[in-house]
Amino acid sequence: MTEEATWSIKALDTGTSTIEGSIRTYLRHCGEPVSIPRVMWLLEGPTTIVVDTSVDPQLKPYEFFGESFERSREQIPENALKAAGVAPKDVEWVILTHLHWDHCGNCALFPEARVVVQEAELRYAIAPGRSFRVGYLSPGSGWPHLPSYLVPNLTTVRGQHEVVPGVTLLPVPGHTPGSQAVLVRTGSGTYCITGDAMMTYENIELDVPPGYHTDVDAAMDSLDLMRARTSLLLPSHDHSVFRDRPVTLIASQ
Ligand SMILES: [Zn+2]
Repeated sequence: MTEEATWSIKALDTGTSTIEGSIRTYLRHCGEPVSIPRVMWLLEGPTTIVVDTSVDPQLKPYEFFGESFERSREQIPENALKAAGVAPKDVEWVILTHLHWDHCGNCALFPEARVVVQEAELRYAIAPGRSFRVGYLSPGSGWPHLPSYLVPNLTTVRGQHEVVPGVTLLPVPGHTPGSQAVLVRTGSGTYCITGDAMMTYENIELDVPPGYHTDVDAAMDSLDLMRARTSLLLPSHDHSVFRDRPVTLIASQ
């Protein structure tokens, strides 16, 4: 029997916002303020991988988008990585679940990594539908800077793709056209880092998709697809993934 690569997963708390509840749960919790974390995920195994790069506060994209954002010193991505025992130069791969401003904000921290996104997501991010331009900081949105995912080390993939043994990208469209989840083999089973295809455990408990989506039927299909692959789901914006802050060990290698 061949030995299969396994990975550890750590959740890094890199900031907090308060948003309107139905953004996470379609037509539920309308008008209710809800606190959400901004999560970076760290995978350690044969190499080091970061999934999603959180918010870059320098140019205040949260003000442009119209959301609050708070970050303590320990929640600064470099500091959270350091608390997890990792320096940015150690990171070989950066996987972006999608290109909304709050998931891809610090790509320049990792000039030596390969930054991976679905080709369909990159195409849509450059020229999104009118309702979605601001969320991507796209050229047509009025955002006066380059979006932070446009780095020289950006790489695209198409469809399901094994990045390295034990880490597989799974297309989960609906929230955005090119959203991808990340399936991670650990010592305690295969986890799914969902990106915004699942923002909170309530998406499963209430059986409703995230409220922000380009295709609501595809968003439900993607929830079903992820559930069919594993019960170990890690949503993007749910404080309950954290037991410790800024770093929670989710699964060991
Ligand atoms: Zn998103």
